[in-house]
Amino acid sequence: MSCQKVPITGRKQLKLLPSSYINSMGNESYASFLKENPAVAPPTIQSAAVTAVGERVSAAVTKYMNDNGMAKRIEGYKWEFNTVDSKDVNAWCMPGGKVVVYTGLLPITKDDAGLAVVMGHEIAHAIAEHGNERMSQQLAIEAAGIGLELYMQQKPEQTRNIFLSAFGVGSQLGILAYSRQHELEADKLGLIFMAMAGYDPQRSLSFWKEMAASGSGSVPEFLSTHPSDEHRIAEITKFLPEAQKYYVAGGQQTTPQKTVQPSGTTIPGNTTKTATKTTTTTPSNTNNKKSTGTVIIKPGK
Ligand SMILES: [Zn+2]
Repeated sequence: MSCQKVPITGRKQLKLLPSSYINSMGNESYASFLKENPAVAPPTIQSAAVTAVGERVSAAVTKYMNDNGMAKRIEGYKWEFNTVDSKDVNAWCMPGGKVVVYTGLLPITKDDAGLAVVMGHEIAHAIAEHGNERMSQQLAIEAAGIGLELYMQQKPEQTRNIFLSAFGVGSQLGILAYSRQHELEADKLGLIFMAMAGYDPQRSLSFWKEMAASGSGSVPEFLSTHPSDEHRIAEITKFLPEAQKYYVAGGQQTTPQKTVQPSGTTIPGNTTKTATKTTTTTPSNTNNKKSTGTVIIKPGK
């Protein structure tokens, strides 16, 4: 327990805390958050869409991790998706797979593919263990004198605060939760995750442009000053061809091609105005973790 590699990007990261510890802290803060901010109930069309898209993206991520020898990393994950009534434009995913989307975000996500951009990004933070890394870095500094274990024992309050700020929960919603590096990495992983779940990653461009345009009021995790909107969109554009390799419309479904939209969803994934999308038929795309020759041809850029 000291160094490990981030899935997909292969970046080395510091990891001082056991995942079990981080996950249980995640579950704890998730539960107390929901106590103060009850989830939308009974489900609305919108909250049902959040759950449906979340389940689809998390299923694809789980399959990817299992197929690539990383099942241990998501051990103990129990995915849950909740929508919370709030004007804030925000969403987060706790380690352990607890996801909350704020209704304030929904006018910007608009459709399932828009939601998948958010899901992919937030789930990516958890899968890449950005919170653990950030907390490890912080603790390495704070506990330098006395040692990690002793520090956490003696200063539970401080430890908890470090956790909350590392994961972007609490009163100052994640304003500085993640670094620029973490944000861009979550963008990349997120694009691949949404693509694997059968949502066109191209949709991320219109989503982030709209996020940039709407930048007002509260400062959500998304709109943190780093990376800047233009830089983020430029990086996403650069990475899109890679993410497209993972995209098969309706991917992760056992039956090829026939896209079955989960019940409760509103608009089918793809509302972007891509004129002629040629999805070459792959006879069996049951195992589409790497590009298996399915090429999506897009007119222009
Ligand atoms: Zn983020």
